[in-house]
Amino acid sequence: MITQAKEDLKKIKCYHMSSYLDEGIRNGKEKELSNIEFLRKMLDAEITGRNKNNLSRNMRLANLPCEKNIEQFDFKFQTSITKKQVNEWLSFEWIDNRQNLLLLGAPGVGKTHLAIATALEAIYRGYKVRFFSMNEFIEEMIIQELNRTSKKWLSNLMKYDIIVLDELGYLPVDSKYTHLFFRFVNECYEYRSLIITSNKMPSQWGVYFGDESVAMAILDRLLHRSTVVKMKGDSYRLRDKAENLNKQKNDNICNTFLSDQSLI
Ligand code: ADP
Ligand code: MG
Repeated sequence: MITQAKEDLKKIKCYHMSSYLDEGIRNGKEKELSNIEFLRKMLDAEITGRNKNNLSRNMRLANLPCEKNIEQFDFKFQTSITKKQVNEWLSFEWIDNRQNLLLLGAPGVGKTHLAIATALEAIYRGYKVRFFSMNEFIEEMIIQELNRTSKKWLSNLMKYDIIVLDELGYLPVDSKYTHLFFRFVNECYEYRSLIITSNKMPSQWGVYFGDESVAMAILDRLLHRSTVVKMKGDSYRLRDKAENLNKQKNDNICNTFLSDQSLI
């Protein structure tokens, strides 16, 4: 009878209940659980199992380059943003309101770290996230267009609650493809949330996209409903180097680089 019950549970896709049944019955006897307590334990096994599977599937689909979290972020080093502000994002109301998050600043100030940490936290809360480097995204977008599969690709992307585009600004987009990016941003507008990190200020996006008017249209939609964080300060990557160099007081190149805040 138990074997049959297990098979029936599988038929109705309650795989976790099916595997837990033996243990559940044993546990029920030992602890003299009532029928309803036993049922609750069984449901609990199914719900916990499904949540765990969803989480690992969402982690896999997100394609995060690595795991970073907010606890690892040193707010004493990066003072353009406070932990309180970041904790407010982590309420994720902005996702429910279909808003965007733009993290701008020079290399090494922690934009990607915060984007990944926010994405990771969103996954833990059950949101679906897809992470791309901007270059990877543009490449994929062009391939999909050339293969005439853009429509399907876009509609698949729209299943994610957040799409992260990391490092907009390094390799310029060929202007003949800029309208494709506009189409994507337009699809997301008031429907899905974007997290974009960039070393370029919006005033420089025209050059990056090779077309001032399309860049303006992209920005218009992105900025309409968004939180923009301008992250200032020194590169975290170079902090140890900077300390050493400051001691030696003789490296003009690095000091010039560290003090170059023209981007922000
Ligand atoms: P960006 O994307 O702005 O160029 P990253 O987020 O990639 O910079 O940061 C570079 C490295 O420094 C990463 O390993 C990141 O985890 C680390 N980092 C940057 N800022 C901080 C910070 N404030 N606290 C802790 N680690 C940081
Ligand atoms: Mg980065």
